[in-house]
Amino acid sequence: IVNVNGLFKSYGAQQVLRNVDIQIRRGEVVVVIGPSGSGKSTFLRCCNGLETAEQGSIRICGADLLQDGKPLAEDALNALRKHVGMVFQSFNLFPHLSVLDNVAIGPRKIVGLPRDEAEKIALALLEKVGLAHKAAAMPASLSGGQKQRVAIARALAMQPEVMLFDEPTSALDPELVGEVLQVMQQLAAEGMTMIVVTHEMSFAREVADVLVVMEEGRIVESGPAAAIFEQPQHARTRILLQKLS
Ligand code: ATP
Ligand code: MG
Repeated sequence: IVNVNGLFKSYGAQQVLRNVDIQIRRGEVVVVIGPSGSGKSTFLRCCNGLETAEQGSIRICGADLLQDGKPLAEDALNALRKHVGMVFQSFNLFPHLSVLDNVAIGPRKIVGLPRDEAEKIALALLEKVGLAHKAAAMPASLSGGQKQRVAIARALAMQPEVMLFDEPTSALDPELVGEVLQVMQQLAAEGMTMIVVTHEMSFAREVADVLVVMEEGRIVESGPAAAIFEQPQHARTRILLQKLS
């Protein structure tokens, strides 16, 4: 469902992604780890067209996002983004909209559903993340964990086929991390295809099918998560896993 080949990306003279290859099958959960600055966020941003790589190819859900460095036209890019949901470290909710409207706005404005239908979908998703009782609340009145669960519901409202998570719990107080990971774990169990950048090794151990280890813009190790946890092949992976667990 995701096919990335030979991806290169630079900011000015600094090479941030160097020959990144990833193949992800439908329903797989891929956890990406790596030190700060290794290119994890840049990789995710390339996968939903927020950044354009200068070389390589990205194929998601059968559509080419990038072919030899040439990005899709804007309308095709927007169509593709509907297949790819993204959740950021900072929740990015619309502060002036209620929780329900935050989730319903995508289906209304982008898909063009009538208000009542969009709100029905939004409410069902709030139910799923355990926040139906907060539908009328404003984002500012929510805890960080609740905000992040709303952000997940909002991404799901577009019915994505792939979900990207960039350190979704690293801005949260420790006691709020669990409720967000639990929602993500449930999503994984339902068969969602997910790429998750995280330092939460317990989540990686329990939920990841594939572990990808990045360093200095390269994938230094990748494969079945259980095998890598059991027996990391690369010295950097061993050091990283020691640090994180
Ligand atoms: P972290 O764990 O700190 O989030 P990361 O692995 O996500 O790190 P990236 O954010 O992808 O790393 O950044 C990779 C490198 O690219 C870093 O050296 C960063 O300074 C640089 N970089 C990222 N975004 C930009 C930008 N918009 N302009 C210039 N340089 C950037
Ligand atoms: Mg990052």
